[in-house]
Amino acid sequence: MNDCIFCKIVAGDIPSMKVYEDEYVYAFKDINPEAPCHILVVPKEHIASMDDITPENSGVISRIFEVIPIIARMGGAGNGYRVISNCGPDAGQSVFHLHFHVIGGCELPLHVFPEK
Ligand code: AMP
Ligand code: ZN
Repeated sequence: MNDCIFCKIVAGDIPSMKVYEDEYVYAFKDINPEAPCHILVVPKEHIASMDDITPENSGVISRIFEVIPIIARMGGAGNGYRVISNCGPDAGQSVFHLHFHVIGGCELPLHVFPEK
């Protein structure tokens, strides 16, 4: 996927603040953090979104969830964190390479719609 910004980050063609890397997973700090810890965890392989997870490529998803607790602690969210993946237009997905936001490092608001 030549045009994918996260593929370019994984390849090292665009700089990133790397937090974690293994054979299948890459994690880096979000450029526009919404909390003291805001890390993006991505499969190295290009998968566009959660809609594109299949039996063939889903092995990396379990790997991602195995390492998220390690990444959260490394990022200073040892006291609790939230994992979010925006999928599709209504969710506001802006980069179409599957990624999991790991957010923490402070007390997080409980609801997506705080006025509710
Ligand atoms: P989403 O809106 O869920 O697709 O999330 C995309 C995220 O990628 C946003 O939180 C952006 O701040 C982040 N982002 C975009 N470009 C970069 C980059 N070059 N390095 C780090 N984070 C980025
Ligand atoms: Zn990609």
